Amino acid sequence: MTANQVDLVIYNAEVVTPTGKLSGGVAVDDEEIVQVDGDNRLPSGKEEIDAKGNVLLPGAIDPHTHMGLAGYQGGFDEHFEYDFETETRGAVHAGVTTMLTFLFQSEPYTPSVDRYADIGSKQSYVDYGFHAVIQSEVHVEEIPDLAKKGITSFKLFFNMYKTAAPILNIEHADVGRLYDTLKQLQDVPNGIAMVHAENDDLSKRKRAEVEADGRTDVTAWADSSPPISEAMQVEQVARLAQDTQTPAYIVHVSAKESVDILDTYQSQGVPIYGEVLAGHLAHHTGQDIGVFTKVSPPVRGPSHHRRLWEGVSATNLQHVGTDHAPSSLAGDVNRDDIDRYGDIWEAPRVGRPGMGYLLPILLSEGVNKNRLTLEEVANLSATNTAKRFGLYPQKGAIVPGADADLVIADLDKSVIVDDDFYHTMEPRWSSLHGWELTGLPTHTFVRGKLTVADDELLVDKGIGEYLPR
Ligand SMILES: [Zn+2]
Repeated sequence: MTANQVDLVIYNAEVVTPTGKLSGGVAVDDEEIVQVDGDNRLPSGKEEIDAKGNVLLPGAIDPHTHMGLAGYQGGFDEHFEYDFETETRGAVHAGVTTMLTFLFQSEPYTPSVDRYADIGSKQSYVDYGFHAVIQSEVHVEEIPDLAKKGITSFKLFFNMYKTAAPILNIEHADVGRLYDTLKQLQDVPNGIAMVHAENDDLSKRKRAEVEADGRTDVTAWADSSPPISEAMQVEQVARLAQDTQTPAYIVHVSAKESVDILDTYQSQGVPIYGEVLAGHLAHHTGQDIGVFTKVSPPVRGPSHHRRLWEGVSATNLQHVGTDHAPSSLAGDVNRDDIDRYGDIWEAPRVGRPGMGYLLPILLSEGVNKNRLTLEEVANLSATNTAKRFGLYPQKGAIVPGADADLVIADLDKSVIVDDDFYHTMEPRWSSLHGWELTGLPTHTFVRGKLTVADDELLVDKGIGEYLPR
């Protein structure tokens, strides 16, 4: 053992760094990247891993996850604890090393943050931070206090969930509350408002029209909350971001009209940003998807799908998330018993095992279909999100000084998605079942710790740390 031997060396990789690709590897010591270099310049390591010429990416950061929300059996807190274990276990199997998840309650959040952070530290396989959902004026008022607790991002359901899905118990927000939130955020470093932009007043009427026509398929679901419902709200958010000069972030952009609006305002320098879900990059209604994509906002037609990919390439959409929401099929329902082409209105509305497919979709549908470069994948899945949410340079890129959150991915490895693909609580409900994905993470490191190698989980829960921002 030499004096300059480091904890870990990963070599023989195609390393994706912010300045381009490099043949070589990284040296890791005390949980941090200490060197990014050609193989012959790397020090020796106590542990050395041959990447076998595969790609080395920064660990993915999912900006949009919902631990505890679905309430499939009980309350938020109970499921928050349970989900943190099962869902982050799925995450490390697929190259996600950090997640941001939404706290959701009607009481003030400030007294609860430490408790939620503790739950994560006992249960999580990945590092994690919190966004808070603004449900009332009380939450707007406590923004400065929450910023001191490390929460600087706040989500509003903008005119959405007034009437839709009352079971979720979400309070919608109007223009006034969004304006108040943006004003509060002006004094918060890295402060940002995240907005679900879908107009429930209009969608309620559109849905009634669609149902009156007797339509029950997945295109009916899409038309029940049409592009105009989203576009109207995105336009208002952009104008408020412009008026207040405060950053706003549209979660799960689904419509081509929304990408056009983002482009218009972004080109004027307005701090408005867009996220697209990996599921929306995978799917459109021209595919054979059936009831498994009963999500809000809906998966739309091919022209929207095309525009989302264009928006990603043109960086109108800078972030890819998943809206990962653990939920469970009722009892011992067999996946094969679900009528894939059944009535969309009757179909269960269960969650998404999104962290399990975030990187596989970007690699399979993006890189291997020549829609994305590896550098773009790193930006979309890690770097941009770390920067937007105040985690950079600790997280988000393969650079010296950063946490050693790393993923080895084999661009030639294929899988047909089935229940075994996921490692979460509910692997049965997924729109990707039967799909062949090519380009898969093989090794995931969280702060230098090898957590999963070739589908084998190598660590116990509780390695994740809270990330105050
Ligand atoms: Zn969500």
